[in-house]
Amino acid sequence: MFPYNVFPDTAAINDNGALEIGGCNLMDLADEYGTSLYVLDEETLRNRCRAFVRAFQSRYGDTQVVYASKAYINPALARLFEEEGLGLDVVSGGELAIAQSVDFPLERVYFHGNNKSPEELAQAVEGNIGRIVIDSFHELETLDRIAGDAGKVQDVLIRVSPGVDPHTHVHTTTGILDSKFGFAIQTGHAAEAVRRAVAARNLNLLGLHFHLGSPIFELEPYAVATEVVLRFAADLREEGLEMREFSPGGGFAIAYTRDQEPPAVGDYANTIVSALTSNCDSLGLPAPRLIIEPGRSIIGPAGVAVYRIGAIKDIPGVRKYVSVDGGMGDNIRPALYQAVYEVVVANKAGQDPSETVTIAGKYCESGDLLASDITLPVVEPGDVLAIPAAGAYCPSMASNYNLNPRPPIVLVQDGRSRLIRRRESYQDMMIADIV
Ligand SMILES: *Cc1c(COP(=O)(O)O)cnc(C)c1O
Repeated sequence: MFPYNVFPDTAAINDNGALEIGGCNLMDLADEYGTSLYVLDEETLRNRCRAFVRAFQSRYGDTQVVYASKAYINPALARLFEEEGLGLDVVSGGELAIAQSVDFPLERVYFHGNNKSPEELAQAVEGNIGRIVIDSFHELETLDRIAGDAGKVQDVLIRVSPGVDPHTHVHTTTGILDSKFGFAIQTGHAAEAVRRAVAARNLNLLGLHFHLGSPIFELEPYAVATEVVLRFAADLREEGLEMREFSPGGGFAIAYTRDQEPPAVGDYANTIVSALTSNCDSLGLPAPRLIIEPGRSIIGPAGVAVYRIGAIKDIPGVRKYVSVDGGMGDNIRPALYQAVYEVVVANKAGQDPSETVTIAGKYCESGDLLASDITLPVVEPGDVLAIPAAGAYCPSMASNYNLNPRPPIVLVQDGRSRLIRRRESYQDMMIADIV
């Protein structure tokens, strides 16, 4: 069975047994743009944006959905998210610069990160960014000074760490006590941060933020953490905390493999909204604005990585290696944290699997494997592989390792394709070099 659950909404197999996304045959896209190639399905992207807005706003009117740019952003996508009414969450001056390059309404931009530089903070303050989410005492002092120097009062949130384990990979867990992110509630640091932010002349504390990690397949951690943070907010009321905004971050899971069934967006919305409203009621807190920050769950399902098969090496009794023209330079997730992907042969999408192979990248690392011991129809050089659920944390983590140019990105819809990032050239890779 073809794993439709991990492919974009428009995935279809045509009469020739070839895979189509957005009405475009992947073989044609591979010929036109070359491989490796990232294909983003515009319909899925917009559907996911609308699913989040609808799921939350229908249950809690005062919700702002904010796209977490680090999953992947570029100027064309920033425009698309603006059209959908989303805000942006940025984690660097570079991501902020993308927003600024398309005149994204900066009042809808949230700046995160555990070590923003003074230059990045100044860029944000001068650009009149909506919120800066303070993550350390050092940042609190630095930002207070920068805002003061600019003659501004900066709206801020404080990132707290609620001490709740979402049971995801240790490298992507952020809301537990032992974390580089946020102020721990447990240690009293979060309370101290609130006091200092309230006292700071050039900061206007609007509320609290947390982010537990990603991807989170369980609903319970959101409910537990929301309760912990709202109790904290209630305790801090006497210290001058008026929580007008509340954000439980992102981390919503997607299916990477055919057997995975993450909660629906509506399930996450039910859990978060009911935890928010019931705890606000019982604690006597006014209802805050709710900020939701999905990244992976918006762009992940829309993306398909497309590679062409080159060398095939069969080591008898050991393993059959099928090498492609991409790898850890465009998708480091399998090497970094053992991420598992489905793989489909785009020109043999209707055929049943018949042999076990391992998909290797072209980078000079033995760990550069995109998928290990998977079953595929018999493949040969020139066949095209499609790896779904590749929209998030693949191009955004891409590198020029081995000096391979990073792949192009093409947006598809209704049988048309539009390049939103061209393939890098050798000149691009040398542009900052000085001889
Ligand atoms: C990474 C991150 C997100 C988005 O996480 P996803 O898993 O992509 O939804 C949201 N908020 C913050 C603060 C983050 O660091």
